[in-house]
Amino acid sequence: MSNNSFINAQQQVESACRILNTEPAVFEILKDVERMIEVSIPVKMDDGTIRTFKGYRAAHNTSLGPAKGGIRIHPATTYDDVKALSIWMTFKCAVTGTPYGGGKGGIVADPTKLSENELEQLARGYVRGLYKYLGEKIDVPAPDVGCSAQMISWMVDEYCQLAGTQALGTFTGKPVEYGGSLGRTESTGFGISVIGRQVAKKFDIHFEEATLAVQGFGNVGSHAVKYFEQLGATVQAVMEWHPDGLFAIYREEGFTYEELEANRGKFKEMDNVKILNPEDFWSLDVDIMVPAALANAIDERVAKLVKANIVLEGANGPVTTEGDAVFKERGITVVPDILTNSGGVIVSYYEWVQNLQGFYWTEKEVLERQEEKMIQAFDEIWDTKEKHDVTFREAAYLNSIQKVADVMKLQGKLS
Ligand code: NAD
Repeated sequence: MSNNSFINAQQQVESACRILNTEPAVFEILKDVERMIEVSIPVKMDDGTIRTFKGYRAAHNTSLGPAKGGIRIHPATTYDDVKALSIWMTFKCAVTGTPYGGGKGGIVADPTKLSENELEQLARGYVRGLYKYLGEKIDVPAPDVGCSAQMISWMVDEYCQLAGTQALGTFTGKPVEYGGSLGRTESTGFGISVIGRQVAKKFDIHFEEATLAVQGFGNVGSHAVKYFEQLGATVQAVMEWHPDGLFAIYREEGFTYEELEANRGKFKEMDNVKILNPEDFWSLDVDIMVPAALANAIDERVAKLVKANIVLEGANGPVTTEGDAVFKERGITVVPDILTNSGGVIVSYYEWVQNLQGFYWTEKEVLERQEEKMIQAFDEIWDTKEKHDVTFREAAYLNSIQKVADVMKLQGKLS
């Protein structure tokens, strides 16, 4: 396994093409991005000096629709990372039948060290540099790590001013008052609960009797807990950072979302809880483990501790390649991030649809449509997994590459 994410992404495409026995042109086209634009963004800093920041935007493959993907603002963002992330977005969109290609953006900057004025210039400068390559039917960015809804609002405004027209659908992840969708905030966590219920059924587990442990009580983890509870499952443990360190709370009868919300940052003070260290958390005897905090949380060592039969990847890339190999050997089913946490991109798609129509849906309509789409994707991938006798993750890649290859064939891009 390389530590270059782009090479890893290429290897995943290659391995899926090999299993599917696709014609050579499929890998030849999918092994690199269709376009990668690099811009230099000048910002007049508050001290009067000018600093330039690197900005990137990659479109991996647009056979299924306009490029779609977040903008990551982080000092360690690299050219190759942005390309790799755009490849994974192609898979993520295709796997749920969301009509987009893979895209991703990046700005090499530490947003926590910039003032509001500097961030606004950065956001507007990014759009000015990339204007020609963005658009409702060309490439539709969204927020990612380090990019707030406020930054997206400045970007949309800059784009609309340059275009001389209202084009809210050029970006998603907007605040609801400025064309965002109801349901977007809870969509990723909600989707995780839907996938949890579906996979439990395959293991003959009644979800009402299922026990879960959740790592991370941020946006994704907390909403996952909320909907697990609504579906009748029992969340027995939650792990989070606290001022005095990282620990988990455990209660056999489970927690309600409401009490966890009310005790954010002070879980230790809750009644009737057992405090666990991270090792004990990962070793819990629960049915489903949900890493919903950050990438690379479960490596080889942690994977050996896990007793759950099912791991739902709520975060992006929480299981390392080595951790994945341990799970495969131990027969533990890992439901991959590109399906499990795809609720966010699905509702981004609904935001775009609502912007294009100028007609807005209720939260109930949004979540019902999301649920239907995710169940359909789950069933398709399960069938692929059974047909090819591969892991859930491999099945998700096979499924999405096949969809892209089929359309490229119709478009005459293949031999
Ligand atoms: P967030 O910042 O709201 O929440 C992350 C939480 O995890 C924080 O509360 C943090 O304190 C906690 N945390 C960090 N390290 C931890 C550790 N070692 N153990 C336990 N808790 C820890 O972020 P989020 O939006 O919930 O995103 C979480 C993950 O899901 C990320 O990988 C993100 O890329 C991915 N994701 C998010 C969305 C979305 O819609 N927000 C969509 C798809 C994927």
